[in-house]
Amino acid sequence: MWRFWLKPGEEATITFVDGDLSPEGFLLPPRFYEHNLYLNGKHNNMFVCPEKTSPESGEKCPICEDPQERPSLVALFTVIDHRVFLSKENKQITNRPKLFVAKTQTVEMLNKLAAKLGGLSGQTFDVSRSTSEKSPSVGDLFMQVASSLVPLPVRHQVQPGMWTTQTIFNPPLI
Ligand SMILES: [Zn+2]
Repeated sequence: MWRFWLKPGEEATITFVDGDLSPEGFLLPPRFYEHNLYLNGKHNNMFVCPEKTSPESGEKCPICEDPQERPSLVALFTVIDHRVFLSKENKQITNRPKLFVAKTQTVEMLNKLAAKLGGLSGQTFDVSRSTSEKSPSVGDLFMQVASSLVPLPVRHQVQPGMWTTQTIFNPPLI
């Protein structure tokens, strides 16, 4: 599954597939640690860190052997990206399910939105990203769209992302 990703200054409309509130009123997304490596002249080569994600497994992380490489704690949601992309065969593709991988600051913001809206599942947002390269790649301004763009039966056809198998980074199509 592709990752949801905005370039600085870009915007998109997305609908959350998961993101229900717990009985205590919080989001409880799966969380894991990942490394973002600079490889072949490019950032955004993502690798799950097994050592910090599941310390009980006893698995060692070769990337962590470099003390400069500190993994980030991230949380995983599944969204539908309503942008229109062109495939390699020049076909228009839209409403593509994507992994939405959020760092702590974004999760805090989403928790506030979810508390006000009664959960994120089914909510559609216009999301935009600031022009700073350092701004979150999933965007930092979320405006609710009045009604969900995706009816419930369709949302139920989308399988939530599986972080264990699907968090290997895919570059954006455009
Ligand atoms: Zn690691």
